[in-house]
Amino acid sequence: MNKQLTCIECPMGCLIEVEVENGAVKSVKGNTCLRGKMYAENEVICPLRVVTSTVKTVSGKMVSVKTDKPVRKSEIFEVMKKINSLTLDRNVVIGDVILANIDRDANLVATQNYND
Ligand code: SF4
Repeated sequence: MNKQLTCIECPMGCLIEVEVENGAVKSVKGNTCLRGKMYAENEVICPLRVVTSTVKTVSGKMVSVKTDKPVRKSEIFEVMKKINSLTLDRNVVIGDVILANIDRDANLVATQNYND
């Protein structure tokens, strides 16, 4: 089975064709770089995405956050449930871990400073 993907790793948007046999990647064509090859392999076997969102604070303000690594696309709903259940009750600076291991080894980190 062949799958065609548009690589989203950089603005070039290379069209990549992945040949899959028995659930394993047999070949990858059309990528311009190794990053594209890795993206295509992951996208077919275990798609990953960085999650960006906001967390509420005790003051009512919202703080923007993201995962510091891509998480499994299949787990995004669970990740969003965890994010929505959080209430930040401390000051943070960009990069501070708000929730460790939100999905496997990916942490939820602040992408803005919050000082109330
Ligand atoms: S294959 Fe490489 S050059 Fe092409 S879009 Fe992906 S990251 Fe960019």
